[in-house]
Amino acid sequence: MGLQALVTNIQRYSVNDGPGIRTTVFLKGCRLNCAWCHNPECIDFGPEIYWKQSLCTQCGRCFSACEKGAVQPPIALGAEEENDHYYKIDSSRCDLCMACVEACIYGALARVGEPKSVEEVLEEVERDMPFYLNSGGGMTVTGGEPTAFPDFTLALLKGAKERGIHTCLDTSGFCEWEVLDGLRPFVDIFLYDIKCLSGKQHVLRTGVSNSPILANLTRLAEAGESIIVRIPVIPGFNDSVQHMQKVAEFLAGLGKSLLRVDLLPFHNWCQDKYRWLGRDWPYKDVGSLAVSEVDDLLDVLEEKGIEVTVGG
Ligand code: SF4
Ligand code: SF4
Repeated sequence: MGLQALVTNIQRYSVNDGPGIRTTVFLKGCRLNCAWCHNPECIDFGPEIYWKQSLCTQCGRCFSACEKGAVQPPIALGAEEENDHYYKIDSSRCDLCMACVEACIYGALARVGEPKSVEEVLEEVERDMPFYLNSGGGMTVTGGEPTAFPDFTLALLKGAKERGIHTCLDTSGFCEWEVLDGLRPFVDIFLYDIKCLSGKQHVLRTGVSNSPILANLTRLAEAGESIIVRIPVIPGFNDSVQHMQKVAEFLAGLGKSLLRVDLLPFHNWCQDKYRWLGRDWPYKDVGSLAVSEVDDLLDVLEEKGIEVTVGG
């Protein structure tokens, strides 16, 4: 079978993850834990189970199917009036056997994260070869964090290049330089996320230091790689003009390697995913940003001669 990784989605016809029409491969597992994360199903390194409350008929099949006593009957939670709490899974008892998922005939339970081999992923990616050739597209590897799976990601990128497929690597940059250095020969464009230049704020909101992230970005630019920097614009975190001025200063130093910056205004379309995973989301009451709300930030970057798009 060869190398495997957990894949949450292989999204075809993607137009926001690099040039042209692309297939985006989402790997499950990330070392960061960004408070606003739009892909919460890609943070944990193990398989998980979605529980889609709106599809649940409370038939009890999952309860009967679970031999580990991990599906909690509603009465035990004392939350009859709160539909959100019916048949919640107790993760301390659950061994992820997925018997409950198979038992649910209403599609309310779904496995998140399928183990896939490099060959299986490439087979799917290759299906849209004509679209890539016509549009200048290709494959984008994202997550989660692809550099957390260096061997798998390397084999995937290498396999794509051998098949003549253009490649993008979407990364937080939080990894050892040696990992990025090893992937470099098989990456056409890096989609590199920059969240915040303040080291303290970065640790507070993502759980990790930005030092290796900034250092790796500088090294990629020095190596002459092609880079699109992606900046999620998060209300109350990195959306001030003053902060963007510092970012613009830093990015201007990357020279010709910086192809452009994508500003990604915060949105809350991922609320359901948090609910399905049974997690609270600190940003659930924060409204989505309109494109016009990042105009000031766009101006700051453009004043430095940086090409900018909004929305990916
Ligand atoms: S089997 Fe599915 S529909 Fe029935 S109670 Fe469990 S989650 Fe709900
Ligand atoms: S995955 Fe298996 S152990 Fe976990 S709740 Fe479902 S049936 Fe029980």
